[in-house]
Amino acid sequence: MKYYSTRDCTLRYEAAEAVKMGLSRDGGLLTPVEIPQIDEAFLQSLVRARYQERAAKVMGLYLTDYTYEELSAFAENAYGGGKFDTDAVAPVRTVDETTHCLELWHGPTSAFKDMALQMLPQLLSAALRKTGEDKTVCILVATSGDTGKAAMEGFADVPQTKILVFYPKDGVSAVQEAQMVTQEGDNVGVCAVVGNFDDAQSGVKRIFSDVDIRNTLADRGYVLSSANSINWGRILPQVVYYISAYCDLLRDGKITMGQKVNFCVPTGNFGDILAAYYAKRMGLPVGKLICASNRNDVLTDFLRTGVYDRNRPFHTTMSPSMDILVSSNLERLLFDLSGENDAEVRGYMDALAKDGKYEVSDAIKAKLAEQYWGGFCGEEGTAATIAEYYRKHGYLIDTHTAVAVNVMEQYRAATGDEAVTVFVSTASPYKFCNHVLTAIGETPAGDGMELLDQLHEVSGVPVPKRLAALKGKARRFDLTAEKQNMENVVLDFLK
Ligand SMILES: *Cc1c(COP(=O)(O)O)cnc(C)c1O
Repeated sequence: MKYYSTRDCTLRYEAAEAVKMGLSRDGGLLTPVEIPQIDEAFLQSLVRARYQERAAKVMGLYLTDYTYEELSAFAENAYGGGKFDTDAVAPVRTVDETTHCLELWHGPTSAFKDMALQMLPQLLSAALRKTGEDKTVCILVATSGDTGKAAMEGFADVPQTKILVFYPKDGVSAVQEAQMVTQEGDNVGVCAVVGNFDDAQSGVKRIFSDVDIRNTLADRGYVLSSANSINWGRILPQVVYYISAYCDLLRDGKITMGQKVNFCVPTGNFGDILAAYYAKRMGLPVGKLICASNRNDVLTDFLRTGVYDRNRPFHTTMSPSMDILVSSNLERLLFDLSGENDAEVRGYMDALAKDGKYEVSDAIKAKLAEQYWGGFCGEEGTAATIAEYYRKHGYLIDTHTAVAVNVMEQYRAATGDEAVTVFVSTASPYKFCNHVLTAIGETPAGDGMELLDQLHEVSGVPVPKRLAALKGKARRFDLTAEKQNMENVVLDFLK
């Protein structure tokens, strides 16, 4: 299976090269040239399988230059050995007959980013070997909070790699910041950026496309790559859990083979819901993809009107991992919906760069309306949903998950669709203690790690072990940069 850029279909790469590059040189996203198809027999063969086996089998369909033995070993390293706090890895929790929750935060950093970032470093290490790369790969990450920590956790002390993370100075929670600035490993670096997530992400993209910096770094023995969800090695492990969730529902008798299931996904950079789209395109019986946004509702407008317009105020919310105005992975969806029309995608992306805005063709609008439903939820709605779920179901959900639940209910009310729906839970409530406590009617007694205990006392829900351990950890990083200085931070880090 080869990969090509959403902005130029002429060049083709092996999967290993695509994983190593992260982003295509032309700024496009590397994407498989075909989408492999699965059938009922394939699904049936996974119903009784462990998560690790499901992962190796699904990923093997796309990563044809990796052996099944390699992928099995990677899946074991990523998801086995007690790294996740449940053997199910990505368990499905039933709320009521037609409502289920796919919990993706049982990994080492308590956010769904672990699902992909425990896997990516292994795919990349193997890719370096397969492509005969002798340089050290430096992963640059722009994070809205969760990716940075999960990426460092995945890459810490992985040979032939370094990792440097930029996060928005006032855009992450106390727990998220503590997780990042205490990260261990000799090959990691962390820097706060004065600005928001989009500033950090634009800075990283600018550095990637700067030929002078690339040349300087090459002379020093480094090559840049990305662990952001623009890397195919991030998207693919996420395809697995949609298929896995479907298999769990089958196994537990909640659905019958072939029955369509909706997925509702709290969305930021459009990586997670894009993975759901690929699962659907592969033949998984999926009905609607419900795209849930917070107050930063650029995707809701896009899905309703076909106009993507980033010219709007940026809101800092209690679901910071969704505070995004430019959802990079949408480009892969446009590419697929346009019939792999690289010129058309280039046109949209040029307009986005120039005017901050584009309007898709009528053909794409029609396909979007058929497959997607978009909605958003403000701060009050988010808090009210946390309170309601806690009261009604005894289920404590985090702020991002609450956005998904709220939008799922909006969707049901607007359409009357009664199909089985799985909403995706992307973070442990303990990553956002202050907002969760406030939402369930408590007054947070402080603003740091002590809130973990408070939330535990109130709810009785166990604190994830790794979060509890943060309290005793020393801060290792204390660097802040203006956004126009990010280049220098990189050059210093890779001296
Ligand atoms: C990253 C993240 C999201 C958004 O996922 P995308 O793939 O960027 O759309 C949602 N919730 C949490 C907790 C996240 O960390």
